[in-house]
Amino acid sequence: VMELDDKIQFVKGVGPKRAALLEKELGIVTVADLLEYFHFRFEDRSKFYKVRDLNISFANSNIQLVGEFTGEYEEVPKGRRRLIAYFKDDTGVVKVVWFQGFDWIKKTYRPGKKYVLFGKPNFFGSEISFVHPELEVFSGNNLVLKNNILPVYPLREKLKKNFFNNKTFRKIISTILPQVYDKIPETLPAWLIDKYKLMSRRDAIKNMHLPQNMQMLDKAVARLKFEELFYVQLKIQQRRFIRKEKDKGFVFEKVGELFNKFYKEHLPFELTGAQKRVVKEIRADMKSGRQMNRLLQGDVGSGKTLVALMSMLLALDNGYQAAMMVPTEVLAQQHFFSIKEMLGDMPVSVELLTGSTTKKNKTDIKKRLSEGKIDIIIGTHALIEDDVVFKNLGFVVIDEQHRFGVAQRAKMWQKNELPPHVLVMTATPIPRTLAMTLYGDLDVSIIDEMPPGRKPVRTFHVKAGERYKVYNFIKKEIDAGRQAYMVFPLIEESKKMDYENLIRGYNDVVAFFPPPKYYVAMVHGKMTSKEKEEEMRLFANGTAKIMVATTVIEVGVNVPNATIMVIESAEKFGLAQLHQLRGRVGRGKHQSYCFLITKDKISETSAKRMSIMVNSNDGFEIAEADLKMRGPGDIEGKQQSGMPIDLKVAELGKDGKLLEFVKNVAVEILEKDVFLNKPENKILQNHLKKISFKEVDWSKIS
Ligand code: ADP
Ligand code: MG
Repeated sequence: VMELDDKIQFVKGVGPKRAALLEKELGIVTVADLLEYFHFRFEDRSKFYKVRDLNISFANSNIQLVGEFTGEYEEVPKGRRRLIAYFKDDTGVVKVVWFQGFDWIKKTYRPGKKYVLFGKPNFFGSEISFVHPELEVFSGNNLVLKNNILPVYPLREKLKKNFFNNKTFRKIISTILPQVYDKIPETLPAWLIDKYKLMSRRDAIKNMHLPQNMQMLDKAVARLKFEELFYVQLKIQQRRFIRKEKDKGFVFEKVGELFNKFYKEHLPFELTGAQKRVVKEIRADMKSGRQMNRLLQGDVGSGKTLVALMSMLLALDNGYQAAMMVPTEVLAQQHFFSIKEMLGDMPVSVELLTGSTTKKNKTDIKKRLSEGKIDIIIGTHALIEDDVVFKNLGFVVIDEQHRFGVAQRAKMWQKNELPPHVLVMTATPIPRTLAMTLYGDLDVSIIDEMPPGRKPVRTFHVKAGERYKVYNFIKKEIDAGRQAYMVFPLIEESKKMDYENLIRGYNDVVAFFPPPKYYVAMVHGKMTSKEKEEEMRLFANGTAKIMVATTVIEVGVNVPNATIMVIESAEKFGLAQLHQLRGRVGRGKHQSYCFLITKDKISETSAKRMSIMVNSNDGFEIAEADLKMRGPGDIEGKQQSGMPIDLKVAELGKDGKLLEFVKNVAVEILEKDVFLNKPENKILQNHLKKISFKEVDWSKIS
């Protein structure tokens, strides 16, 4: 008899070689692993076609025939070596072609025997052919006839080449299932299954592989999605409940003088509705008595700085200091100057602390900070050094949070005995479903409205062959006083080839835009931060007309006079990153443009991604589209998504409603039984312990 934790190698039809491949390619080791490896789509085999019915309109679909091979095999040694046979039913004949596995095929499929053939027909003149079709003996009680709905598994090429295809997979599953069905454990408590009318885990797994019918299949999928998302939420919400319990926070009772004065007299413009709402959310947190841990998401240019400033004033009004940490020196300076300007003559002392602050100034700033004579400090990593001591730090803002590691942020919380309220800000819009999962134990605020009067950036997809047209356009814009960014992909800044590409790109640009008329600056990851700053400065003050860069410029840089963003090899970037880069322009009063340059020939998917960029300026919309495009069959995509757990069935792009629903179910349970100690919740407690959640590395989420 077989057990769930038996090694897959010992299952009939697997053996050591395939077992090794299954482990390497799909991470499948045990029988249970195999049972939990699910399809990504289904093929409907309810219909059988006749050869006579086939025509060119079937060229892209899998179809099914019943028939037999007419005679012996023919081996063609010329050209690509291939094996040919003819397959007929009572209406006609088709050709079948194989390119490998000749001996096995000749031995296995014999003329005169009835088979079900399944595959995509090719049409060449009057000839119809199938290449490597699936073949199954027609026997009245085979899989094909019992189940018209057949699962298709995400299998990698390597497996298929070793004759481990969908058919093999299904065969092995149907050997295993009857033997272990009774042993598949339930992972949800009976009361929960009853309450939400879920299918048992056993039946769900069975129907995932060998569905009785479409309805049962739907129920199986629903049950497994429920379970999967429910446990993720249970984990996250439990963590959040416990944290809220534990972390007492400062109570900011007052909306005081500074806040009110700023609001009435210093606001340079009317707040957007979204900004108002977020300020309210933050304010409610700050007076709750619990430590605030809030993520503020807002697209580039949506006005997060202002929200941060007003929140800092709330801290000041309650007698506390506030700090704002940003990832780069340039950004720190930008924030420092714009915040000072907005505050004007208000009695608030603001200082800047970065790596390049002079030693003398540093000493002075640290002294005054510890004496409470500085109200707001803005800075880089320099702020987390041990000798930066506050008198009473009540509130910390972290801008572009994904640029900091968890440990770095944690150092900031520790600058005070009672942890300060924390607001982390990001311009990388994350779809709500993903945010709920990734940042589930944070509260999330979203600025989903742009300040009025913004001119959307006009975006174009340009093939490499037309690059010179873009360059000519740039010349005109520069002659009219504008500036341009040109970004080259450096996938890994350390890779030599990427680096050489950048330099070649730079030389090409300089050749087209010769100095002194067009000074071309450059920044990349191999430069020291001093060198980078200097190049940035030349661009910011208008000396350099063009900035050639890698993605190091993606964060926060603000040069409103720059109106052109050219992205080379745009197909190599993620949508989120393209959107970030595009956000560097469109910041001033002039119309801005973004050119996405790709190879002349690109895949359908790349073309679709480019068209998403061309058609939308909305970061959230782009992020959602991105998530949806990563289909369920996208094995690589799943593995690098940064999720705390690899979802096997649920898809965040589609299952947003279910996610909300199970979150509420989880919260309802935890409200009464946070540690899941009640007898009826024991099974939850036990199963939760068994699931391994990856610690999410926030610094990787971008
Ligand atoms: P981000 O969210 O990318 O950090 P910023 O806070 O830098 O955006 O704001 C971008 C620009 O929009 C700044 O020049 C800021 O002064 C301006 N801004 C912010 N809020 C408003 C508003 N409510 N109305 C008009 N302009 C605004
Ligand atoms: Mg910003």
